[in-house]
Amino acid sequence: MKYDDFVYTRMMQAKKTKRLETMLRDAIRHFPELHGESISVGYTKRLGEAEIRRLLIRLNPRKLSYYVIGHELTHLVQGLKDRLGDHAIPKGEIACDIWTIARSDLFLDEPPGYLDVGRRVLLNWTSHRNRVRSLCIEAIEKRKIRRTYIQWLTAEIRSSSQ
Ligand SMILES: [Zn+2]
Repeated sequence: MKYDDFVYTRMMQAKKTKRLETMLRDAIRHFPELHGESISVGYTKRLGEAEIRRLLIRLNPRKLSYYVIGHELTHLVQGLKDRLGDHAIPKGEIACDIWTIARSDLFLDEPPGYLDVGRRVLLNWTSHRNRVRSLCIEAIEKRKIRRTYIQWLTAEIRSSSQ
């Protein structure tokens, strides 16, 4: 099985667009942990959802961003905890955002929905996003020795955006 073969639900088959398929293919290249897995893609009216056990994500073709796709795929990787050992991604929405941002700059097209980056960064995301990404990568390293890595990260993002 090719790594970019997705199984679309019946609802999504009717709703999906060329753009959605292209964006999904672009996104999955950055998720080697999921290559060879059969990922289902369904439809939601909301932004996005993931059902880890069913290896299913739901997307809204009208509210698409690489950030949302990356975030939902990262949830699926969170579900592979046992298999990934030291490389496992901790659970939770904020961790999901941090690991999504760190993964590739492809996923920086929108600011994160759960990681608190502060107003200043939120209002001018494009000029801050690369720095936020570097800090997320650093925070993932920090986590190995420091469990309060999220507090460290949000403080660091704020202090360097003054
Ligand atoms: Zn989420």
